[in-house]
Amino acid sequence: MPKIARSRTLKKAIPRNTGTLWLPAFCDLHIHGAFGLDFMAINAVSEKTFLSELRRVSELLCQHGIAHYAPTLLTSEWSTLEATVAKWAKLLSSLRSQPRIWPKNAALPIGLHLEGPFLQPEYAGAHPRSAILAPTAPRLRRLLSCGSGHIRIVTLAPEITGAIPAIKTLVKAGVRVQLGHSRANTAQSLAAINAGARGLTHLFNAMRTHHRDPGLEAALCWPNVTAEIITDGVHVHPAKVYQLAKAGSDRHYAVSDCCAVAHAPKASLQTLGELRVTQHGGAAYVANKHGRATTTLAGSARLLPEHPALLYRALTQDLSLPIDKKTLLSLFTPPAFAGVKTRFFANFEAETLRFVRCAER
Ligand SMILES: [Zn+2]
Repeated sequence: MPKIARSRTLKKAIPRNTGTLWLPAFCDLHIHGAFGLDFMAINAVSEKTFLSELRRVSELLCQHGIAHYAPTLLTSEWSTLEATVAKWAKLLSSLRSQPRIWPKNAALPIGLHLEGPFLQPEYAGAHPRSAILAPTAPRLRRLLSCGSGHIRIVTLAPEITGAIPAIKTLVKAGVRVQLGHSRANTAQSLAAINAGARGLTHLFNAMRTHHRDPGLEAALCWPNVTAEIITDGVHVHPAKVYQLAKAGSDRHYAVSDCCAVAHAPKASLQTLGELRVTQHGGAAYVANKHGRATTTLAGSARLLPEHPALLYRALTQDLSLPIDKKTLLSLFTPPAFAGVKTRFFANFEAETLRFVRCAER
């Protein structure tokens, strides 16, 4: 795994030798937890315990090259979701007002990503169907009030009842709307873009797409629309990622969609909201009553900084596809809308990543 080398300035940190590629530190905008911590667990423990756990996990994320992340919350029963959002908003407000409580060598949570509850039940994936709701005006008001300005991204399905006015309300409130967990056809997808949606959540996963009616994928024809892509080698085939990277588009950016099982003790059972999940082959799966993996994917078990080397190996060795590292790494640059200032640079050489701390926050 990558290691951090410390250096006081960027100039000192970057060696002048050629053949070294530098990329900004990772920003994971779709992450449900890691190192045994489920971000939904803020409800299950005391404020103090959760804060100290989050600090521990954020320091570990930083050691792996992640400088910023958007804690991503799963669909859950409405009152639980309200409480979860409110508790996170309180925590994020205190980080903003007293930045000193956050260690300098810890990744910084930059706002919440709500994945649901306004999804298409048929494309729910691991989200509990019973908790999926229609986005009514009172629910949106309540959610925005609980979030106190800390909700950065909402993923919703544009074809469900009330989705179009909901998109307008969220966009007006400064929230980025991403389309996902959806069976929307092309016309429904474009209506959502016209209403102000600007993103796609985990492109190709939990969406219906067909070359005669591309559905959500068609949204990428419009300028200013960008899409997450899970680059863990499991959720999207490396050949598909290769196509996107080779197209040289700045319309796709990598996310992990990882959860508590990432870097948790091997074969341990972890929670993902109300679910129990376990890992197998780099991915997280919903566990059955015996604690074994079912076939329902529940996210990744790999942190985002692990993805580039893995992809590079899969493309060049397993598939014999030529790709230069710079092209591949363009997928891992934080998208502009994240608005993050990079504090680290990661150095990608051969199959290893090295991170150099280059500036204070
Ligand atoms: Zn997710």
